[in-house]
Amino acid sequence: MKHELMKLPYEYDALKPMMSKETLEFHHDKHHQTYVNKLNELIIGTQFEDMSLKDIIKKSDGAIYNNAAQIYNHDFFWNSLNPYNSKMSLELEKAISSNFGLFEDLKSEFISKATTHFGSGWVWLVVDEMGKLKIISTSNADTPLTLGLHPLLVCDVWEHAYYIDYRNARPDYLENFWKLINWKFVSENYSKLRGVFKPNYIDECNENSAECNYIHELVDEERTVS
Ligand code: FE
Repeated sequence: MKHELMKLPYEYDALKPMMSKETLEFHHDKHHQTYVNKLNELIIGTQFEDMSLKDIIKKSDGAIYNNAAQIYNHDFFWNSLNPYNSKMSLELEKAISSNFGLFEDLKSEFISKATTHFGSGWVWLVVDEMGKLKIISTSNADTPLTLGLHPLLVCDVWEHAYYIDYRNARPDYLENFWKLINWKFVSENYSKLRGVFKPNYIDECNENSAECNYIHELVDEERTVS
């Protein structure tokens, strides 16, 4: 099976001035494309030739793992961005409030982890095996998929993601990355986990407000589906 470079979900100049057209052209058309080309070369004649990308990531190591994981991580990164100022779901908003407190606390923990991550890698908002939201960083090509975690959002902190626009000023890149987050995508990733975990904010919702009624409707919906 030949793996394909995903098409960007927006135009190359859609994220400027936070991310320039030149950055997107290099990052997507050169770096991301190279991982796709290398993986396609490496899997010829191996047990990985007809596997899905996720299966390759879970079952391989070395160069095959690195290139497959970098394709997955970059696909996730492009989808984590958008130019539309998208809104998050109430369900995700409640989960963030329950796990981090203020939205600003989530932002400062994410940016702090991304600023201090040593070398190349990725910073993720994930859901852990207990259903809790966490911020983690992974080095080089590593991905939450092999750690039993469910990714919701990712930021690429390899230098190639920001060097053209920001040189070595990673904190400036991160501030602008935050403005581009596709909260609709993050919310959809979270909603796909309904039924896998009991959302950990439900127990806190005892009042008879419109918000609580909405949350209880979500739970009823989940029971109907499962
Ligand atoms: Fe990258």
